[in-house]
Amino acid sequence: MSLLVEMFPCLRDNYGFLLHDEASGLTATVDTPEAGPIIAALERRGWRLDYILNTHHHADHAGGNLELKDRTGCTVVGAQADAARIPGIDIGLAEGDEFMLGESRAVVLETPGHTRGHIVFHFPDEGQLFAGDTLFVMGCGRLFEGTPAEMWDSLQKLVRLPDSTRVWCAHEYTQANARFALTIEPDNLALRERAAEVDTLRAAGRPTVPSTIGREKATNPFLRPASPLLRARLAMPEESEVAVFAETRRRKDSF
Ligand code: ZN
Ligand code: FE
Repeated sequence: MSLLVEMFPCLRDNYGFLLHDEASGLTATVDTPEAGPIIAALERRGWRLDYILNTHHHADHAGGNLELKDRTGCTVVGAQADAARIPGIDIGLAEGDEFMLGESRAVVLETPGHTRGHIVFHFPDEGQLFAGDTLFVMGCGRLFEGTPAEMWDSLQKLVRLPDSTRVWCAHEYTQANARFALTIEPDNLALRERAAEVDTLRAAGRPTVPSTIGREKATNPFLRPASPLLRARLAMPEESEVAVFAETRRRKDSF
């Protein structure tokens, strides 16, 4: 038995995710950008919604909570640390807590930086990571409520996961991220190949999500402050990794 993942577009550039534990028949949505597409996906699959798993409080992630809870009676799960900002929260989780979707086990990692209370859901036995707005394909979330050091610590938790871990990001930002990444590490061959691949996918109207931790380590400039090529480009040969990360983030903000 396993965990089925159904991904579908929401709003302008968000993805919605339904997780279905085959053994128990239980279903969760990761975040609620908007109720309509989530209800439609549930109906397509013939699944009933049991849980909302929130990564953070932003409206494009928790905006559909109350409507979905009202319509389905589902249970809302989110960060205990941000309970006051998660609409309808029933169960609060913290670093290292486990959440069982039937027989599928998720481990919560706290990843502050984008927001103070951001969490991600890692299913270690399935090799799946629901990363919210912490890690994007070749990008990372903007630092609305955290310092570069906090976000760097958060990203370190993710790069320690197995390379084969599939990374489900909450937005299709990949093409813009790739264009920026090429300005930071233009001689990274893996990055150049991937940017071309992404253009092909998008031209065909196909998603670039999921990624994997291994691919992100090879191509995502926010995970590569140790790269000599990247350091040379930024003229930061001796600076700390967090300083290089901070400079990369600063440049992206004004790209
Ligand atoms: Zn957000
Ligand atoms: Fe978002």
